[in-house]
Amino acid sequence: NDKIRIGIVGYGNLGKGARLAIVQNPDMELIAIFTRRNVDSIHVEDKQVKVLNIHMAEEYVDLIDVMLLCGGSAVDLPIQGPYFASMYNTVDSYDNHGNISEYFRDMDKASKLKGKTSTICIGWDPGLFSMNRILFESILPKGESYTFWGPGLSQGHSDAIRRVVGVKDGVQYTIPIKDALEAIRRGKTPQLTTGEKHIRKCYVVEEEGADKDKILKEIKSMPNYFLDYDTEVIFISEKELKENHSQMLHGGFVIRCGSTGREYDNNHLMEFSLKLDNNPEFTSSILLAYARATYKLNKEGHVGAKTVFDIPLKYLSNRTSVDLCKSLL
Ligand code: NDP
Repeated sequence: NDKIRIGIVGYGNLGKGARLAIVQNPDMELIAIFTRRNVDSIHVEDKQVKVLNIHMAEEYVDLIDVMLLCGGSAVDLPIQGPYFASMYNTVDSYDNHGNISEYFRDMDKASKLKGKTSTICIGWDPGLFSMNRILFESILPKGESYTFWGPGLSQGHSDAIRRVVGVKDGVQYTIPIKDALEAIRRGKTPQLTTGEKHIRKCYVVEEEGADKDKILKEIKSMPNYFLDYDTEVIFISEKELKENHSQMLHGGFVIRCGSTGREYDNNHLMEFSLKLDNNPEFTSSILLAYARATYKLNKEGHVGAKTVFDIPLKYLSNRTSVDLCKSLL
């Protein structure tokens, strides 16, 4: 049995997606899921899967090749990341933009202690989008890059509206502004703020007797989240929310408009886009491709923290170098 042995730490949306994605990768097998919660409270459809308390992880160091760290970026990963990186090869989806350099440093130090490899900030943004932004700007140094998110459900903004007094439940969709997107695709290169590129659409279920006008004003005036955006608030029933807004759709676009030629008169457009039915399932599929890469890199002695920028594509694939060469054309 030469399958890559995978462990999952944290069984939230990403952890669940990872369990499903492992089944689609015949070169990998799931050894166990580790959780902080009471193991009996964790429901896993496949009864064969081992669910263990997180404290058991120290006993699995020889039985697991790569640990997928599926905890949240805000509070879980800053602690769980370095702890696991000092025992295991790891892959995580850390996305706390402001603290990435610090996290890289902590993970690099921890993973080098025992000769491990930790691949950080894996997903689509950061992740595939970051990779495409660098690829595009390296090829077309004279130009402008744009990132649009959505249409998609934003977990952070949905949490923010649920905290408003009088709100029983709600979700928020981030939606790219069509006119801005189309202008860029036609080769225009405007300077745009995030608010000039996106609208925010909120579906809210109010508590009985709540003041709708007050809720609306409070949402629209929330700094950082909604104030600088064209924000639409739609009140709906609990039943409607459940039926029509439970899917975790997401996606987005990375676009670069650039020019070449002596007079910079030849224009080029590069675009990478995603349209996802289920954000965590897609994100965890990326984690698994990078788990394969992390395993191979560690076997070759490349230890320490890595990001998407450090890992060549051939490491992500299950195919041999010879086979990949045949696929160049
Ligand atoms: P969740 O909130 O679903 O899970 C985070 C952790 O919370 C889990 O590991 C789990 O740990 C715990 N948890 C989950 N459900 C419950 C529950 N019912 N009660 C108590 N605890 C629970 O987060 P996601 O899986 O959606 O996301 C994880 C991270 O991935 C986020 O930081 C997100 O920003 C990032 N992400 C990054 C993307 C990218 O493109 N880079 C895309 C998508 C997500 P335990 O089992 O130990 O209790």
